[in-house]
Order: sequence, then structure tokens, then C-alpha cells
Amino acid sequence: MGHREQQLDEISEAAGGWFRVREVEPGIWLLAEPPHVNTWLVVGSDRAALIDSGLGVRPIRPVVEAITDLPVLVVNTHSHFDHIGGNHEFDQILIHPDGVARVANDVPRELLREYIEYAEEMERSLPSYLAADRKFFFSLAAADQPRKFPVSLDNNTWQIPGSSANGVLRDGYVVDLGGRTLRAIATPGHSPDHVALLLEPDGVLFAGDAVSTGAIYVQWPESDIESFANSAERLAGLASDVHVVLVHHWLRYATLPFFLREVADGAHDLLSGRANFRPNRDCAGQSVREAVFDEFSIFLPGEEMVNESEGVGR
Ligand SMILES: [Zn+2]
Ligand SMILES: [Zn+2]
Repeated sequence: MGHREQQLDEISEAAGGWFRVREVEPGIWLLAEPPHVNTWLVVGSDRAALIDSGLGVRPIRPVVEAITDLPVLVVNTHSHFDHIGGNHEFDQILIHPDGVARVANDVPRELLREYIEYAEEMERSLPSYLAADRKFFFSLAAADQPRKFPVSLDNNTWQIPGSSANGVLRDGYVVDLGGRTLRAIATPGHSPDHVALLLEPDGVLFAGDAVSTGAIYVQWPESDIESFANSAERLAGLASDVHVVLVHHWLRYATLPFFLREVADGAHDLLSGRANFRPNRDCAGQSVREAVFDEFSIFLPGEEMVNESEGVGR
């Protein structure tokens, strides 16, 4: 067996059937938890950056160590639970200054419980979707297909412990990996501590949750739609420096630079009163108003901001 095959075997064993691992460009690895969240590993000549750390339902560090022997630092795009689940497995964590306190505490169990309900609802909708995909469309590789969520409401062992992060990821901060660098681009709106990361000289943009090929969440209490629109405009201005945009949510993990302009224009239309809304619910079970565009949507807080965390049916 060649070195490469052996390495791939080791990676797939470390991934334990949960992470979908794929090298999408030289030294840029997707560690996906489809259809929940994507994490990215960028390997330089001196060290590697793990861009976010996943849901924390399965250990991610063994997967990282099967890919690289170099020192690894976690670079968080923001502090939301689905991006910091494996932070506690690492010693070196960088985040925007506003995120330091947010990742310091354990994630509330109630939020994880709501997410399990959401995951179960997604799972119920999958069989017909997958059957059509395999019969006609092939939008998903077999290995990209969503897998059963490994924790349930009956058997909930899921915890996301707090982690200690260094708040250096201010706008313009550069992380040198050796031969390639990640530049932080402050992009508040989805959350106040949000940064996108531009890999140079590769021209790869890690958009965090500022761009998604599906629902973009701007409904959280800490979200701000005007900041979001400004950030989207700023990212659209980078399009000529970028050849691919790597994203964290829904089933597509990459999109093209033109999409940055689509999102910026959508946010602008929304603020100018030119968007169509429908009611929906987010992954925490809260009601939202969803502004629907051609290839994505934007969630805003619902009219009735009632707390439905006490088991009201969805
Ligand atoms: Zn988020
Ligand atoms: Zn997210």
C-alpha cells in the first residue's frame, strides 16, 4: 500500500464514519458533518489552521492528526456552538476579541437539546430527498450524504465545554502558516464577533456564516441586519481577489465569487423593503421571518418573539 492510500485509510478510520473528509485543493481539507456544518483545515509549511472545530458530537482532533503532524491552531470564524464544538480539544485558539467571553462558558444544554430536535426533523425529510438525488440529480457524492445524528433526546451525552481563546482576530490580523497566510476580515452582522478569512496567495475565501448557499441566519439576538449588509458589501468587493468561496452550512461546501454580490444585493433589497417574506423556524425552534432570494434566504427575527423552548411542537 502506498503512503497516500495508507494516509487515507488512517483518516477515514479517525473520521469514524461521522466526518466526511476530502482535500478540495492542495493542503485545504474539508472535514464535513453533513448536513450540519463544515470545518476546514489549511496546512501550511510550518503549521496548520483548523477553521472552526465542528459540532463536538464526535472528536475532531484525531481526524486532524491523521492529516498533518504540524502544530495546529484553531481559528474561529465566530463563537456559535456549531463552530466551536471541538475547541476544547486544542490548546491554541484564536477568535475575534468580542468572542473570547462567549466561548469561555459551556454551551447551554437547552440549546443543544433544541438542535437535536431540529436534526431529527431534518432526518425525517431526508429519505425522499436522497432517493430523488440518487435517481436523477447526483448533487451529492455518496460520501457527502447526511448520516444519522449520533445523539438523540433519549440518549443525550452531547456537551460543548468552554474554551480559552486568544482574542487577536481583529480586522486585518494575519495568521502566517508558512507559505500561505490567513487574513481576518471583520464581518459583523450574523454575530458581532464574526470574521471571514482570506487565504493568500491562494485566493480562497472562508466566508464563515456571513455567506451560505441556503438560509443565512441574521435573526439571533446579537445579529444586526445593517452590519450584515455592510459586511456582505465588503465581501462582494473582494470577489476579484478570490477564485472560490468555502462555506460552512447546508449541503454545498463551495460557491463562486459572483455569489458574494448576490448576497450583498439581497441584503440591500431587504433593507430597501424589496424582499418577500415567509414565516419559518430556525435551528433553535424560534419563529423567524425569512426573506427569500433566488439561491439563498435571510432569516430575521419573527413577529412573535415567543420562547418556544418548552417543547411546543414544531
Ligand atoms: Zn453562526
Ligand atoms: Zn453556523
